[in-house]
Amino acid sequence: MHAVASISQSALSHNLSVVREYAPNSKLVGMVKANAYGHHLDLIKPLMQADILAVSELSEARQLRLLSTRPILLLSGVFNDNELLSAIQLNCHLVLHDLSQLSVITNTNQSIHIWLKVDTGMHRLGLSEQDLNTCLQELKDHSNIHVECVMSHYACADEENHLQNTQQLNSFNQLAIDGIARSMANSAAILNLPESHFEYVRPGIMLYGVSPFAVADKRLQPVMELSAPIISIKTIKTGESVGYGATWCASVDTKIAIIGIGYGDGYPRHAKNNTPVLINDTLCPLAGRVSMDLICVDIGTLNVSVGDKAILWGHDKLSIETVASYSDTIGYELLTSVSSRVNFMTHD
Ligand SMILES: *Cc1c(COP(=O)(O)O)cnc(C)c1O
Repeated sequence: MHAVASISQSALSHNLSVVREYAPNSKLVGMVKANAYGHHLDLIKPLMQADILAVSELSEARQLRLLSTRPILLLSGVFNDNELLSAIQLNCHLVLHDLSQLSVITNTNQSIHIWLKVDTGMHRLGLSEQDLNTCLQELKDHSNIHVECVMSHYACADEENHLQNTQQLNSFNQLAIDGIARSMANSAAILNLPESHFEYVRPGIMLYGVSPFAVADKRLQPVMELSAPIISIKTIKTGESVGYGATWCASVDTKIAIIGIGYGDGYPRHAKNNTPVLINDTLCPLAGRVSMDLICVDIGTLNVSVGDKAILWGHDKLSIETVASYSDTIGYELLTSVSSRVNFMTHD
């Protein structure tokens, strides 16, 4: 008996079509970095329909190239000749986000596609406006280098009406980049900032059916269902404690189901007492600390048996957004933390 992450193929297709409805005039960059946000690159076939697929680094591009013939956008770009050669062989489009990368990419006669990333206020990756102009000027003289797009990234798109969203969009709109495609929108901006859809949108989390905001979005369908079996059931008397540190005590006589999943599988150790777990269609509260291989759940008088399935997230009645809020984190982190001990499979 094992924890299982089951990846819904129809949910992936549905979420992709939601993005297309929101941004009908934009091409779609499917963000599949971090092993497709923890869903496993080889289990997300419907996303291969995106116009281009994006990963963070070369090792991910190598893996993805075995699964797709689409162009791959390499978000970190290349830093030396070896990386450049590999990226060209893999048919990657390269992000140039730091001026030091200019001399690397101009060191070839082969045809390459470049995405120039500009910092409009997040102050993480991206060229200053002045460095952007330096790049555009220099790249004019290289007929083998095609500037496919100018991109930027929002710092606060998940906060509605945040002043910085307007400021970043204004900065972006003021760049002298006539005739070049633009890209600004992550999932939150696809949903909330339509004026920044431009020629390419870059959905990530929403493709996996998870909201970029704090609460689940009914228009999206969760892609990963995480479940694990009940491996023991015991009766607990009033006043008895459960788990490490004895942080949970029974206030009435009750039954506890022990589930075969823990932080060694990626269930968050910081999930608080009362984090909901779905058993036989009923939400039951987590009781006591999460351990490496096990969690304990107060099932009260619920009629369950060893072997029954407990759902940890990815169900209409139990969203990953809810579990994230009980664990002081975000769905992104929970998804990318599901460990290799979990059995991954697909379903329709
Ligand atoms: C990961 C990433 C995205 C996608 O963000 P979501 O919030 O998951 O939609 C978009 N753009 C860049 C540059 C990214 O790194």
